[in-house]
Amino acid sequence: MRDFTKSKQAFAESSQLMPGGVNSPVRAFKNVGGDPLFIDHGKGSHIYDIDGNDYIDYVMSWGPLILGHADDQVVADLQAAVTKGTSYGAPTLLESQLAKMIQKVVPSIEMMRMVSSGTEATMSAIRLARGYTKRDKIVKFIGNYHGHSDSLLVDAGSGLATFNITKSPGVPEALAYDTLTVAYNDEAAIKKVFAAHGDEIACVIVEPVAGNMGVIPAKKSFLQTLRQVTSDHGALLIFDEVMTGFRAAFHGAQALYGITPDLTTLGKVVGGGLPVGVFGGRREIMHEITPDGPIYHAGTLSGNPLAMTGGISTIKQLNEDLYTAMDQKVTRLMAGIAAAAKQYQVPIVTHHVGTMWSYFFNEHEVENFADVQKSDQAYFAKFYKALLQEGIYTAPSQFETNFISTKHTDAEIDQTIAAFERAFAAVSQG
Ligand code: PMP
Repeated sequence: MRDFTKSKQAFAESSQLMPGGVNSPVRAFKNVGGDPLFIDHGKGSHIYDIDGNDYIDYVMSWGPLILGHADDQVVADLQAAVTKGTSYGAPTLLESQLAKMIQKVVPSIEMMRMVSSGTEATMSAIRLARGYTKRDKIVKFIGNYHGHSDSLLVDAGSGLATFNITKSPGVPEALAYDTLTVAYNDEAAIKKVFAAHGDEIACVIVEPVAGNMGVIPAKKSFLQTLRQVTSDHGALLIFDEVMTGFRAAFHGAQALYGITPDLTTLGKVVGGGLPVGVFGGRREIMHEITPDGPIYHAGTLSGNPLAMTGGISTIKQLNEDLYTAMDQKVTRLMAGIAAAAKQYQVPIVTHHVGTMWSYFFNEHEVENFADVQKSDQAYFAKFYKALLQEGIYTAPSQFETNFISTKHTDAEIDQTIAAFERAFAAVSQG
């Protein structure tokens, strides 16, 4: 058995200092009934906790680390950047360099603003959509998560789904009132909302592949319907690609589905492990942002040189071939996990899109949040602990996504499949 003594002690201390002992709720491992691991360091596809245990990591900092931990080039570039200063609050060439790289990969982003988190990116995109259309209502999908700004914290996925919170206290009723929520992948429902409120709706925001209720691919016709109804009613379509950008495919979910949104938000990979978010899209809409236009946006650390360097150094190393290789590995991993579950008669649904993957202990198709909720959470919690004992570190919730990096090897995929088999055996034997 692995020894977690030091992590347990560290958690007891941090719980006196931070709510739940953590700075972001799902890290607390509350729903899998354990104490979180405190991490000492990571390298490539591996992380090491403070007790000296070694794991193959599929959390990858919840997505950003597409090149794995402490990639040599990223580390070298950051080291060089930090000697020049950490922040100036004035323009640098790095911002335009990253912007051009992003534009090349996601051409619908004609202009953009850099921010410091995905939350800021979506919050700013919503304000822009409201300001541009001069309308207040927004539409989001049940189980999609877009960060923790007020308007978007209604029927959200990720930690809110994990802890069963449909609406956070502290979100004013008036704001929640303007957020209309609809079931994911439900074309009839979205048409109905537009028939009733079409001329009051500023925007529809969607995860084009949902990742905050586990991985749930959108149906193509669903995204096409969103494109159609928003265009028909003068509302904007926002693809929240904070997770799917550089993850669902090199060029993001919009390329995968062949659908062009008006605005896109990015985060995670775009900072290579440093705090970066991006919102951008059609030029004429972006020109409404201050100081070109009246819609306010600002940030002391927006475009921070270290954060820009993390993004530039990461994106520079990415190409289509790496995505093909990662997709093949994930495909094999999913088949291995499904076969292992079958061997132990455990009902399972596996989903993956590009470098994002998850599985549900569920007997039926999983197309929306209501379907995910029917998954066996108790089994998930037991299974999670068994996986940790096997040296596999995955997202500690059924409502989250796992990620692969370019550093995960075929041998590690085999090791992971073998570890899943042993974990099924351990849980089946009680
Ligand atoms: N949008 C999506 C789709 C996300 O997955 C997340 C975070 N998981 C966010 C927004 C918020 O990003 P951040 O945590 O960087 O604020």
